[in-house]
Amino acid sequence: MPSKKPTPTTLITYFCSRCTWDFARSDLDAPTCTMCCKGDRLTEMKREPITPQAIEEGMMRSMDRLMTGLRGAYESGKKQGIADDDEILLLEAMVKAKNLQEHVERAFGTRVNKRPHLRRGFGGQARIHGISMSL
Ligand SMILES: [Zn+2]
Repeated sequence: MPSKKPTPTTLITYFCSRCTWDFARSDLDAPTCTMCCKGDRLTEMKREPITPQAIEEGMMRSMDRLMTGLRGAYESGKKQGIADDDEILLLEAMVKAKNLQEHVERAFGTRVNKRPHLRRGFGGQARIHGISMSL
């Protein structure tokens, strides 16, 4: 067996002022922004022990933000009258994000009814080319 790898013990939340984006890294990861891949404008916001709960919280939070971002893009696109092709791409991304969220919830065994503060899906219906989807 090769020598034991060091195990990360601390989850550090950083804020990148270039991207106005916060993200979590372990104490063994290089502190680089997950958006711009740079580390020169980072502020350390929080340190906490790595627990399954801390990781789950972090994942759910970034997914929630991803969903909010996609939904915002979709809604402003609808207002500006985006092309059907772009609308389909956005809807597909939203469906994928929703599936991913459900996947993570299952992986962590999170029951939705235990977590009423977590939004599920986009809470809406979309119709495109006569096909309706719940998002
Ligand atoms: Zn950044």
